[in-house]
Amino acid sequence: MDRPHILLVEDEIHLARGICFNLEEEGCRVSHVESGEAALDRLQYDRFALIVLDVMLPGMNGFEVCRKVRESDHRVPVLMLTARSEEEDRVQGLSSGADDYLVKPFSLSEFLLRVKGMLRRSSWYLPEPVEEGYRFGDNEVFLLSYRAKTAQGEIDLTELEVRMLTLLFQREGEAVSRGELLERVWGYSTDVETRTLDNFIVRFRKYFESDPGAPVYFQTVRGVGYRFCRKN
Ligand code: CA
Repeated sequence: MDRPHILLVEDEIHLARGICFNLEEEGCRVSHVESGEAALDRLQYDRFALIVLDVMLPGMNGFEVCRKVRESDHRVPVLMLTARSEEEDRVQGLSSGADDYLVKPFSLSEFLLRVKGMLRRSSWYLPEPVEEGYRFGDNEVFLLSYRAKTAQGEIDLTELEVRMLTLLFQREGEAVSRGELLERVWGYSTDVETRTLDNFIVRFRKYFESDPGAPVYFQTVRGVGYRFCRKN
């Protein structure tokens, strides 16, 4: 739960894959988006320990993204990746609110050192952890304290509900098979036939959907299992 969550904004898929892989090896959790617009969208819902931001992006460039980020968050560390080494770019990067920058091409070990340093520095001045809720629609779910705020008021969650929500949130946007849910949440072997899972989904829809009969967040994937989507 306390793995630092990093937002990577990088449109070069090859490089992004390498970065994701290495950060995850180092114990970080990484969310990857390919544009500044997508990054700003994510930032409305999630808090990150660090943003790794490429300058040359399709659409809005990294400088603009950084300025936007700083309008609402002065503290999240931003590491900028710039393809150019001109002095002007560095100055522009730092003046748009980045905390540090790396010039491409860089070695992954140099990158990882930089990231670790930034995470360490930022953790010095982080306040006592206040649990950040996981938000979607009118809901906010607090997985650590087993609570949720919904349109109908505050509710308590059970251990199994939290386990199932954790898995669905981690895999947001992906179909998670019944077999995997049963195995990872209940510890059943995958050949167990059960309605338990479906009952949980019914319950989630009652808690969190404005129309449980036409679910937006907890979707059924026919013949596979379920998918959690925060937005559609
Ligand atoms: Ca780029």
